Amino acid sequence: MLLGVPFDANSSYQRGPADAPPLIREAFHCDSSNSSTESGIDLGSDSVLDAGDLSLLADGAFIAIESAVAILLDKGQSPVCLGGDHSITYPILRAFGKRFADLTLVHFDAHSDLYEEFQGNRYSHACPFARIMEEGLVKRLIQVGIRTMNAHQRKQASRFGVEVVEMRELPAVERFETTGSVYVSFDIDVLDPAFAPGVSHREPGGMSVREAITHLHAIKGDLVGADVVEFNPKQDVSQLTAMVCAKILKEILGKMIAE
Ligand code: MN
Ligand code: MN
Repeated sequence: MLLGVPFDANSSYQRGPADAPPLIREAFHCDSSNSSTESGIDLGSDSVLDAGDLSLLADGAFIAIESAVAILLDKGQSPVCLGGDHSITYPILRAFGKRFADLTLVHFDAHSDLYEEFQGNRYSHACPFARIMEEGLVKRLIQVGIRTMNAHQRKQASRFGVEVVEMRELPAVERFETTGSVYVSFDIDVLDPAFAPGVSHREPGGMSVREAITHLHAIKGDLVGADVVEFNPKQDVSQLTAMVCAKILKEILGKMIAE
């Protein structure tokens, strides 16, 4: 079940990801590609439900996001949220964490987003995984593609027991021997900006789309939810990043439906 979360008020550097959800949907439904995933699942016609976009104000946005996700989970749906900046993963995981006791969170990103606070904001898009770990919302956090670790974030990672797979360690498909329920949080800037220029924080030296899909496919366990975040249309070139978001979304949905 798709859910658009057009919210970027916790971005530290550039706004723009709030405009992303309709553009990801448009690319997802674009006739330039067919509706099959690489794993052979057909996402055509009505197989992917869509709850539309939330309307969010800066005040109370996190409560609205958490409750919208909770409603979908209570209906037995598997929400896949289209961001939005990465701060939305915290309220989303609050809904998941209360319903799944054994959740493993697999986080694709150039950044570990583990800051205690960033520019005075504890809910910045640089902080969601610190909030998630403090509240014990997941059993395990595996981060992959990271290439911006500093001393503070290394300290946070060891404090919270985060399993960090840095970009320079790839390929690392064997690190995804997960069991039980799994949630995937996919920050588009994990990709090299050559493949996905439409992000606020372009960090060279990232994954190819191929590497990202290979690692996504390697995840074991039961995929119960996901998000695709940090696509910034203002930075995109020729709708390239929108199409990359749609491709990643397809492979995530294919994995969910196959299980
Ligand atoms: Mn991020
Ligand atoms: Mn990032």
